[in-house]
Order: sequence, then C-alpha cells, then structure tokens
Amino acid sequence: MKKIHMVDLIGQYNQIKEEIDTTIAETLNTGMYIGGEKVKTFSENLANYLHVNHVIPCGNGTDALQLALMALDLKPGDEVITTPFTFVATAEVIKLLGLKAIFVDIEPDSYNIDPIKIEEAITPNTKCIIPVHLFGQTANMDAIMKIADNHNLFVIEDNAQAIGSNVIVKGEKFKSGTIGHIGTTSFFPSKNLGAFGDGGAVFTNDPELARKIKLFGNHGSSKKYYYESIGINSRLDALQAGILDVKLKYLDSYISARNIAADRYDQLFLGTDDIKIPYRVEYSDHVFHQYTLRIKEHRDAVAEALKENKIPFGIYYPQSLHHSEAYKESRDFHCPVSDQACKEVISLPMHTELTEEIQSHIAKIVLEIVK
Ligand SMILES: *Cc1c(COP(=O)(O)O)cnc(C)c1O
Repeated sequence: MKKIHMVDLIGQYNQIKEEIDTTIAETLNTGMYIGGEKVKTFSENLANYLHVNHVIPCGNGTDALQLALMALDLKPGDEVITTPFTFVATAEVIKLLGLKAIFVDIEPDSYNIDPIKIEEAITPNTKCIIPVHLFGQTANMDAIMKIADNHNLFVIEDNAQAIGSNVIVKGEKFKSGTIGHIGTTSFFPSKNLGAFGDGGAVFTNDPELARKIKLFGNHGSSKKYYYESIGINSRLDALQAGILDVKLKYLDSYISARNIAADRYDQLFLGTDDIKIPYRVEYSDHVFHQYTLRIKEHRDAVAEALKENKIPFGIYYPQSLHHSEAYKESRDFHCPVSDQACKEVISLPMHTELTEEIQSHIAKIVLEIVK
C-alpha cells in the first residue's frame, strides 16, 4: 500500500494541477503579488458562496479572530465566553487583547460549546461569545443567538473547521460563519479550503464592522500614510487568493468526498462497543474537517498501534486549554466533559483522496486493538 497521509494535499493538487499552475503563472507574470485582482475576485466569489455581504481576507485564521475581536471595541477585563476544546488560537486572541477568557464546557456528543452552560456563565461583564464549529459541524447557533440577543452580546463564529457547512437557524438555512455578527476562517493548507501557505478571512453582514475589520488589518489606515487607529498588518497574498479561487469551485465536491469517506468509516466501526462514531446534530450538516472517534478504554493503545503501522492520526485535543501552562490563571474553570473528551478522542486520516482500501486497512488495525 502506498504511503497514507492525514491529509493528501499532493493528491488533491494533482487533480487540479493545470488550473492551479495557470493561476500561479498569471500572478507571477503580473508582478502584482500583494492585493490586486486575484484577491478582489476571490473575496467576491467567497462572499457569493457564503451569501454574506462582506469578506475581508487576511493573513491567517488567528489574525481573523484577532481582527474580529478588535472590531468590537471591547475594554480590558471584558469577558469573552469560549470553549476549552479547540485550537489555541481561539482563546489566545482573547488574552492578547487583554480580555478575559471564560471557558464553558462542551456537549459530549458534538464536542461544541454547550448553550445551557453559556447561559450560566454570563455576568454583567460578558460582551461576546466565540463558538467554534469543531471538526466540521456547527455549534447550536439557534440557541446561541437566542442567548446573545437576550443579553445583548456579540457572537464571533470561529469557522476555521467548518467552511461550507449549512446550518438551520430559526427555520432558515445559512452557511456556517454567517449567523453571528462576525465569522472567521483559516486557509491553512490542511483546512477544508486550504491555500498553499497561510491565509484567512473574516466575514460579516454589518458594514460598520466590515469597515473596522478592514481598517485594523491595514495598520489602522484607510487613506495611505494617515492612521485612524492602531492596527496590525494582515493580508492574503495574491498567489494564495488565486489558488483559493480555483479550490473554492471544488469545495462542495470536496465536502461530498469527505462525507463519503466518513460514511465508509462509520460502516467499518459501527456496532463496536468501545467505539463511538461521530455524532451528527440535526441542525447542521457535517463537512468532516476531522473524522474523530471516541474510544473509552483503548484510545492510547489504538494510537500506539496506528503509530507502529505508520498510519498518521491526530489527538485533537490532548488537553483542555484552561489546563495548559499559559492559561493557568483559568485553571479553576470546571469543564469535565471537555477533559473527558481529551482522554478519548482520536482523529483518523480524512481527506478528499481516501479510498476504501486505505480505510479498511486503517479500520482493521483499530478494530484488532478494540475487539
Ligand atoms: C486552524 C484554526 C485556527 C487558526 O488558523 P491559522 O490560520 O492557523 O491561524 C483557529 N481556530 C481553529 C478552530 C482552527 O482549527
């Protein structure tokens, strides 16, 4: 069997090589490497795909989160509610801006932030909620938006793992990341819409928030060499925008391929006592950024066996954020559901080029340990 990848970026590139090579050559030949037509076109096409008024491209998904928070004009000490079961960037930007991260536990099935526990964590200082649409499935936005409306809170959706997912809110269908006041995403190569380097974007329907996000991402300047505020430098470059514009056309077919692979894994693992296959919530479809099993007894043994057989896997995440050294002032938050998930989750190779043969091979190794 050929080498198994966690994400097969080369296989995916080879399928669309001609188009990708063409856009790269076009950019190289214009000399317009920052800004320009490619960035503008991609931003417009992404806005159309998401049905959102404003897409502001930026340097990466972490900057996208930071820019989103900067646009809200919060004061030091204001509280931002988020999940401890996420990539660090979500919480990092809260702390970087001098805000207080309030960690709220997750739902055991979806791994997304638990709306009931959000309600309990709200204080007079709460200003914003940042749900993360983990592994490719949106958080319960219907419940979260109700809470936000009742308490007058901002909502920033960290959509780095769920771009393209559809979600039902108040009986209406939306693309994930476009329900809250602001949505953010990452174009890190392994994400579902991945560049060939770093990239990110912020989306919003609010023109004033869009103006601020753009301003803060461009050194606080809307007129060259005049500065309205302190900002950062965060841009998507033209090469990445061109590549992303090609891949955006295929995003829905990539999502279908991931779902086919996920269903195949499901069939292979179904009916095994110690294995829980990914749960599907009823209000959101799943774009399977990760295919994550929950294995109560034998997770570490399975990880060991996969390693021995040279099969890549991921433990997303091995530790709730509030237990890591950098967040020790948050250590008293009580998130037992997240802590338990950290001990039981394991993510298997998931990408658009997976075959039945590869998946059966992986499943056999997992099942030998668990059975
Ligand atoms: C990848 C990711 C980010 C950060 O994206 P970068 O482009 O690597 O900065 C933020 N949040 C979540 C949930 C992610 O998975």
